[in-house]
Amino acid sequence: MRATVLNIEDAVVSYREDIALRGVSLKVKSEEFVGIIGPNGAGKTTLLTIVNGLGKLLSGRVWVLGDYLTLSNSHSLRKKVGYVPQVENIDPRMPMNVREVVMIGRYGLLGLLRKPGKHDWEIVDEMLELVGMTHLAQRPIGHLSGGEQQRVAIARCLAQEPELFLLDEPTASLDWKAQTEILELVKRIHDSRRLTTLFVTHDLSCLPVACDRVVLMKEGLIWSEGSPNELLTDGNLSRLYDMPISVVEKRRRETILV
Ligand code: ATP
Repeated sequence: MRATVLNIEDAVVSYREDIALRGVSLKVKSEEFVGIIGPNGAGKTTLLTIVNGLGKLLSGRVWVLGDYLTLSNSHSLRKKVGYVPQVENIDPRMPMNVREVVMIGRYGLLGLLRKPGKHDWEIVDEMLELVGMTHLAQRPIGHLSGGEQQRVAIARCLAQEPELFLLDEPTASLDWKAQTEILELVKRIHDSRRLTTLFVTHDLSCLPVACDRVVLMKEGLIWSEGSPNELLTDGNLSRLYDMPISVVEKRRRETILV
């Protein structure tokens, strides 16, 4: 039986007057691929922040890779948790090339003052190869398309050699083809490197193929969880997003048409 690598018990998080998580419990097993969906403000990003130790719990408990997460061990545990953020707006004049940006992923392991060695650059080059970006390794980071920048963000995350792979809407604002390619890439990496993956997305079209399980969030709570094919029905999505079922059906037809 696979080990539980993430255990969240009754997590409550608040940002001043806003309560972002209202008592969320979730267990994730090793090598599971979990998709997290829900409307804006549902608490999806906040859920990821309590896994990588950056979010502050008002109450509740979190275990990451078997260790009870505390303020004092969050820094060391975070080294094992990779995080890919939403598409970032990068200044075209940013004076770093792709290879140097991927090396940033190693600094958590290296410490800021140690210089990267041959092994670190080998890992960087391996990750660039994995995401199909070797040919652009020397290009300034600001001179890439959104899809290419997301590939670099994934390589940077993997250069850290994480055990938990968290992705926060990595395909938002990409075109449909780039979205599909990024999801396929993430799935391939998940399978080949035997990672445990939490994937936050608004793109429902590809989830059933990629995920073992989906978690539906709404208003700071887990509204439902289970297999994608059972849960991602028009009726459930209409209730989750407070949209008439006819609109959900229309959206679905449009996605299929695309
Ligand atoms: P989206 O799909 O729009 O990214 P989300 O489901 O990821 O949304 P969160 O970003 O976790 O939702 O936000 C949950 C709630 O917490 C929202 O009401 C949001 O306004 C609030 N919130 C999030 N981050 C902060 C912050 N740093 N300071 C204050 N409130 C915040």
